[in-house]
Amino acid sequence: MNEAAAEQLFAVQEAIRKAEHEHGRTENAVTLVAVSKTFDVPEIRPVIEAGQRVFGENRVQEAMKKWPELRKHHDGIELHLIGPLQSNKAREAVETFDVIHSVDREKIAKALKAEMDRQGRPLPCFIQVNTGEEPQKAGIPPKETDAFIAFCKEEVGLEIVGLMCIPPVEDAPGPHFALLEKIAKRNGLNQLSMGMSSDYDVAVGFGATHVRVGSAIFGARPAIA
Ligand SMILES: *Cc1c(COP(=O)(O)O)cnc(C)c1O
Repeated sequence: MNEAAAEQLFAVQEAIRKAEHEHGRTENAVTLVAVSKTFDVPEIRPVIEAGQRVFGENRVQEAMKKWPELRKHHDGIELHLIGPLQSNKAREAVETFDVIHSVDREKIAKALKAEMDRQGRPLPCFIQVNTGEEPQKAGIPPKETDAFIAFCKEEVGLEIVGLMCIPPVEDAPGPHFALLEKIAKRNGLNQLSMGMSSDYDVAVGFGATHVRVGSAIFGARPAIA
C-alpha cells in the first residue's frame, strides 16, 4: 500500500499536468492537496518522501495527532483544513493548519479571526459554497455567497483568497465548478478549491487552483470516513 501510494501520487501529478496542458492552463497552476484523512503516519510518510508537501485533513483532532510527528521529520509541510469546523476548535485549527478551506458561517469566521489575531498567525481562507444547495451539506448557499464574502473580508477582516465546493455525488460536476468559478470571478477571488479523486481533471478545465485528492493516492478509505 505504501509503495503504491507513491506511485499513485506520481500518476495523479502527471494527470494534473496533462489536464493543465489540455485546457490551456499555465503549467503548475494547480496545487495538489493530498487528502490524508483516515490514513496514519506510516501510510503518509512515503507520500512525503516521494516529494508531496501539501496535505489536506478534514478533522482537527485527527490532524493534531498525526502531523506534529510528521512535521518534526519533514520540512515545508503545508496543511489544509478541508472539513467543517466548530468554533470551539478554532484555537487548535489555527495552531495546526496553514490554510482553511471550509469557512461557512459567521460564527466560524469570527472565531477564526479572533484566534489568528491572538496567535499572530493570519491564515488564507476559502469560503465553502454549497453549490448543490444540499440540506445535509456544509457551505453557503450560492445566492448568499456575495454577501458572506463581503462580511468575512470587510467586517471580520479575514484574508479570503477563494472558494471551495463539493458537488453532489449524483450530479455531473462541471456545472458546479462553473458556478463556483463565476461567483469567485465576480467577487475578485482567484483561487478555486474544487475537484476530488473522481473529477479533478474536470475541475482543472474549469479553473481549479487546488484539487483535493485522497483515495486516488492513498487508496480506498473505510466506509465510515
Ligand atoms: C475526503 C475529501 C476529499 C478527497 O476525496 P477523494 O474522493 O478520496 O479524493 C476532498 N475534499 C473533501 C472536503 C474531503 O472531505
